[in-house]
Amino acid sequence: MLPKGANLQKIRDGKRTYAITPHLPGGFIKPEVMQKYVDVTKKYGGTMKLTSAQRIMITGLAAEDIENIWEELGMQPALGYANCVRSVKICPGTAFCKRGKQDSIKLGLELDKRYIKKEMPSRIKMGVSGCPNSCGETYVKDVGVIGTDQGWDVYVGGSAGSHPRLADKLIEGLNYEDTLRIIDIIMTYYQKHADIERVGQFIERIGLDKFKNDVLAVFYGEKSAAEEPKVPQSEAGEKIVPLPGGLTEGNLVFGDAITADSVISDIIRVYPQTIPVFRSFGMGCLGCPSSAGEPVTKAAEIHGLNITELLVALNKVVPANK
Ligand code: SF4
Repeated sequence: MLPKGANLQKIRDGKRTYAITPHLPGGFIKPEVMQKYVDVTKKYGGTMKLTSAQRIMITGLAAEDIENIWEELGMQPALGYANCVRSVKICPGTAFCKRGKQDSIKLGLELDKRYIKKEMPSRIKMGVSGCPNSCGETYVKDVGVIGTDQGWDVYVGGSAGSHPRLADKLIEGLNYEDTLRIIDIIMTYYQKHADIERVGQFIERIGLDKFKNDVLAVFYGEKSAAEEPKVPQSEAGEKIVPLPGGLTEGNLVFGDAITADSVISDIIRVYPQTIPVFRSFGMGCLGCPSSAGEPVTKAAEIHGLNITELLVALNKVVPANK
């Protein structure tokens, strides 16, 4: 069983070690909190590692120590569900940077307060940059903003990693309140209409014009324009079910048994009722493009799971196999 608030790290010689990552909004840390990191890392033989989300992970920990470590730190885990708002990266902005055009810290911390750990169709990363230099990596975040002399420009659909995508500009020159308002509209729209797909994948599927028109219609008070995104149709006219992650055509069809070679994105496309089963095994990475494209046996190996037990549990929730 996965210790609460911890991630399994690489298994070496059958030995499992875990990592924890406390929530650290904006990457700001007081000396006394930093001291606690140092104390627990020394005491429990861990290693500290800075993460790309402006946090400090402590890795190399034993399962039985995790509960005590959280208690001694007195902090909360950064991550809730796999498919949630996972991070808000914030640059120093006008508070600390000579190039800053807008107060990225104020806006970023507000976004962190409103959205962090909020459950979403897939993982969401946000970036807040005080000027077009984009030190908050706005252009590769699902939702992000860039400060200019005119206000905030809002971007959507960026992603780094194995399937990189540059974000599209949605609107420019907004004030603080309108920026928060349009981000709220974006998040609500995405939550309501997206499949298990990142914002960029969702935009690719329904089209940028449709996404933009619907979100801006709500923003400008023309609510009636925001109709349901259309499910794509094939030439023959049958409904095409969107592929979670958009990665594989897959061979699995309804009625097939799930086998060790079945690809995760196929399984959750054909049998979405398996999602809670994956999650109950600690496999929360269903919205991640690389893990969703793996055979279930590979994912089980990475997570240190017994493949037989996992397959039994998965096949329990699918209809009678052919
Ligand atoms: S994005 Fe601009 S304001 Fe923010 S740290 Fe970079 S240079 Fe400074």
